[in-house]
Amino acid sequence: MRVIKSGSGAQAWSIKAKCTGKGNRGGGCGAQLSVEAGDLFRTFSSHYDGSSETYVTFECPECKVWTDLENKDRPPNSGKLPNKTTWDNRQKRLARKAKKEDSQ
Ligand SMILES: [Zn+2]
Repeated sequence: MRVIKSGSGAQAWSIKAKCTGKGNRGGGCGAQLSVEAGDLFRTFSSHYDGSSETYVTFECPECKVWTDLENKDRPPNSGKLPNKTTWDNRQKRLARKAKKEDSQ
């Protein structure tokens, strides 16, 4: 099924965020970005005591630096976001699809 025109109900989740590199050694370019749920992936860090933490992260389209979202800025169902490998594969699939549609 394809949506021709979205209903007027729920808006897709999005948030304004700045590319800072927070949580990823910094170095962001400072771009202001409108981040949608499809732009996000989960990253993990492990601690010496065996615990681990999950972060919700986006990659800046301009400088490719990763920035972690603040906990309060996470979308609903952020636990279901893909990891980076899955996200990469999806981006590649989308790029291929867009290319195919362009050539038609
Ligand atoms: Zn950037």
